[in-house]
Amino acid sequence: MFINKVLKASVRTGLRLQGTSTKVAASAVRASPGGFSFELTEQQKEFQQLARKFAREEIVPAAPLYDRSGEYPFPIIKMAWELGLMNGHIPEDCGGMGLGIFDSCLITEELAFGCTGVQTAIEANSLGQMPVIIAGNDAQRKKYLGRMTEEPLMCAYCVTEPGAGSDVAGIKTRAEKKGDEYVVNGQKMWITNGGKANWYFLLARTDPDPKCPASKAFTGFILDADSPGVQIGRKEMNMGQRCSDTRGITFEDVRIPKENVLIGEGAGFKIAMGAFDKTRPPVAAGATGLAQRALEEATKYSLERKTFGRFIAEHQAVAFLLAEMAIKVELARMGYQRSAWEVDEGRRNTYYASIAKAFAGDIANQVASDAVQVFGGNGFNSEYPVEKLMRDAKIYQIYEGTAQIQRLIISRELLSRFKN
Ligand SMILES: Cc1cc2nc3c(=O)[nH]c(=O)nc-3n(C[C@H](O)[C@H](O)[C@H](O)COP(=O)(O)OP(=O)(O)OC[C@H]3O[C@@H](n4cnc5c(N)ncnc54)[C@H](O)[C@@H]3O)c2cc1C
Repeated sequence: MFINKVLKASVRTGLRLQGTSTKVAASAVRASPGGFSFELTEQQKEFQQLARKFAREEIVPAAPLYDRSGEYPFPIIKMAWELGLMNGHIPEDCGGMGLGIFDSCLITEELAFGCTGVQTAIEANSLGQMPVIIAGNDAQRKKYLGRMTEEPLMCAYCVTEPGAGSDVAGIKTRAEKKGDEYVVNGQKMWITNGGKANWYFLLARTDPDPKCPASKAFTGFILDADSPGVQIGRKEMNMGQRCSDTRGITFEDVRIPKENVLIGEGAGFKIAMGAFDKTRPPVAAGATGLAQRALEEATKYSLERKTFGRFIAEHQAVAFLLAEMAIKVELARMGYQRSAWEVDEGRRNTYYASIAKAFAGDIANQVASDAVQVFGGNGFNSEYPVEKLMRDAKIYQIYEGTAQIQRLIISRELLSRFKN
């Protein structure tokens, strides 16, 4: 069976299976001693190959059924966990692989090629974990990240509310300190893995003074999902990525011990926003994987379908459309790789992360729509793979900061370089 082969392959390649003692050295891509290099290390190529094989042999065949049923793809997630294809960036001292963002992005692109509903469910773990990775103390990291290396658990990032998404500082969920606990009341919306999570990263307002700046008014918490007062809403029926679990969550007098505050009261906004520098490159990698899939499906189809006595690929209009799609995919890949490389080098990558996310989100939509065009009438039908890609692509222009918010960030970063 494939899984056995892959398990062997993953051991051979040094990919650590979760819960075993096999170790893998963390490796960020490095420029060659001579300077700039596009060459992946042998280990990175092996990660990529393993994820590619898994996506093509396990995810691609299962994706249409999950899309139709909306069922959560836990069997696939479990396999990915066993192969070490998720939670890669959990530090080694917490039992993880300690991969860099670049390495994780290579895996994400491949998983997204298979199905971005599955990839989003997996990526939401990274988003939920990232505030704990960047801001958790030793005890918090070991407790909440450590358990995710022992069994295939999910977590979630709870920030957006019915009344505030782009305007994060507008969130209303309140946490009031009472003795050694905080009591939380409020409502979150659009939380990926909301109904499947073992724990949440939760952002809540701790300073009620409307004049208090965002940099001091909010606190980040780790919240056990089974805490009394956590009410999980229905699974939302979305346009695409339908097997991903998206929900609203209500908090009614939920008690969180003060030990679960990240850094300290008032530090939450910076933590919640800071996580994006490390999670936007993988989102861009996911969008690139979807676009690559659309390009491959359209190219294969263009070499099978004939009109006017020739393959449609032989009509220059179609060939040039494929060329435009290829240009976009290649540049999106370079964008996410640059943004991931920057942050792995320890540099602030906000500008590059937003460029990568904005560009890849846009081109995923353009390339998926062009793939539907290449398929003609068949493209509009769910028996063929590209209509799903077009529906799945839209969310990349919305979550983790909309296309407009990315441009806001890029323009601010750009202009600040020219002002003194
Ligand atoms: C499937 C799905 C999964 C999600 N997963 C999560 C999750 O796991 N955790 C989480 O916390 N959130 C999650 N979200 C929420 C997501 O991040 C928000 O939906 C997104 O940030 C946009 O916020 P909003 O929906 O409130 O739209 P709004 O903020 O109301 O924006 C509406 C429109 O106005 C534009 N706009 C807003 N402000 C400006 C501005 N200043 N300048 C220009 N244009 C502007 C926006 O770009 C958009 O086009 C998810 C959403 C979806 C749909």
